[in-house]
Amino acid sequence: MTWLRNLIHVGSSSINPRTRNTSLLFLPTSLKHFTSEPNLQGSSSNIPRYSGLEPTKPDEKPRIVVLGSGWAGCRLMKGIDTNIYDVACVSPRNHMVFTPLLASTCVGTLEFRSVAEPIGRIQPAISRAPGSYFFLAHCKGVDTDNHVVHCKTITDGAKNLEPLDFKISYDKLVIASGAEASTFGIQGVKENAIFLREVSHAQEIRRKLLLNLMLSDVPGVLDEEKKRLLHCVVVGGGPTGVEFSGELSDFIIRDVHQRYAHVKDYIHVTLIEANEILSSFDDSLRIYATKQLTKSGVRLVRGVVKDVKSHKVILNDGTEVPYGLLVWSTGVGPSPFINSLQLPKTQGGRIGVDEWLRVPSVQDVFSIGDCSGFLESTGKPVLPALAQVAERQGKYLADLLNRIGKAGGGHANGARDIELGDQFVYKHLGSMASIGRYKALVDLRQSKEAKGLSLAGFISWFIWRSAYLTRVVSWRNRFYVAINWATTFIFGRDISRI
Ligand SMILES: Cc1cc2nc3c(=O)[nH]c(=O)nc-3n(C[C@H](O)[C@H](O)[C@H](O)COP(=O)(O)OP(=O)(O)OC[C@H]3O[C@@H](n4cnc5c(N)ncnc54)[C@H](O)[C@@H]3O)c2cc1C
Repeated sequence: MTWLRNLIHVGSSSINPRTRNTSLLFLPTSLKHFTSEPNLQGSSSNIPRYSGLEPTKPDEKPRIVVLGSGWAGCRLMKGIDTNIYDVACVSPRNHMVFTPLLASTCVGTLEFRSVAEPIGRIQPAISRAPGSYFFLAHCKGVDTDNHVVHCKTITDGAKNLEPLDFKISYDKLVIASGAEASTFGIQGVKENAIFLREVSHAQEIRRKLLLNLMLSDVPGVLDEEKKRLLHCVVVGGGPTGVEFSGELSDFIIRDVHQRYAHVKDYIHVTLIEANEILSSFDDSLRIYATKQLTKSGVRLVRGVVKDVKSHKVILNDGTEVPYGLLVWSTGVGPSPFINSLQLPKTQGGRIGVDEWLRVPSVQDVFSIGDCSGFLESTGKPVLPALAQVAERQGKYLADLLNRIGKAGGGHANGARDIELGDQFVYKHLGSMASIGRYKALVDLRQSKEAKGLSLAGFISWFIWRSAYLTRVVSWRNRFYVAINWATTFIFGRDISRI
């Protein structure tokens, strides 16, 4: 019965930061103390009591609450001085995804674990320090007047496990909850297409691809149906769509031809793009990529998707494109959570920040990564949704918060008179994209118009691989990635459907 007592205890009182109790995440509804929605706008007396982390006392370390465990949030947490602050991270996933290599996991070039880094390894205090936590949950609302965030645990649909509402008081809040795939309101996208943003998406793509390969081998399946099952359609010709198409064509040329010889002539990749593919790259690089992809068997279609049905995509001109696997990669936009926040916004709906990445008009709230952008009043452009932006913002903000903490401004409302120092300045380092068959594009210019190095081919591919191998977050994952590349080269990709 000890576990039952623990659950009741957690459900009825605040979490004591000195006695960790992870059972908070597994509290069944029947034992939950309060389930009603909080009054986010109202006075604190109207807010129903929840379990939660209470405000820190002046003699305790101030608490930074980080929403999100992506590029921005993880880089920030890595840089936070945990002698000054406690850190509480809230995120629906307990790891960071090294997104530039995610496409390679869809076809088995890399294993899923090679691109996922557990948060406890990025900021060890989260696993060890008595006042630092990770909560597998999503944030539902922010009460900036009372310095509180309201959260709900993730249960992944597990039976007999109802999500639990809880709240966390913050001294400093960093919103780094990223963006979501844009569907432009096109019907059927969410229901039928797979996005490529999380490891779970890559797993879904790999299982579907292998399922379709095996189904098409079954006796009695008509040719027309085989063609449909093995038609992989990618919508969106940005770097992610192109890299995924390149990976697929490599998989087909090497692995499908050897191991699914019966159906090798039926499998095809089509990449649909409304404008030019890789529009952010130099013209010569784009032309090179187009030629290479076509040579590898990728069919490039210029078109706008109007409707998505369960087995076919319908374009604006009425063309119907049957598919067995549909991957959607047409850019990102603000998530419903970001839309719901009553904070200043940019034109595109991101959280608006000033030159120090603070959210003006509220105290102690910062925002970084894909969910934020400079406000028009700063005179700076909204930065692209890129890992290199998110990562550098995370590093900058960690340094800024450490400085504030050292100067004694770590607690809520304590930083008003503190000199903030240099503003955040972004310098673009260039872009890279692999296009399959040991070829890649490297564009080291700061903008499309600027002068600088841009090259394509095998050397670029070598640069691409070396650059990402050095950028992978930990030595452990660097080792995994190197071993995966070596085994794929020697033995081919893993085609077991697990
Ligand atoms: C396949 C792919 C390839 C890419 N390749 C490149 C590349 O080569 N180079 C490059 O510069 N960029 C690349 N990008 C873009 C880059 O990954 C993003 O710009 C970057 O991830 C943004 O970082 P972020 O921390 O803002 O958001 P994310 O990394 O998306 O992280 C957001 C985090 O917030 C969490 N979250 C969401 N909602 C909530 C909530 N309500 N409460 C709490 N937490 C929440 C999410 O679970 C996640 O942990 C790629 C993206 C993809 C998808």
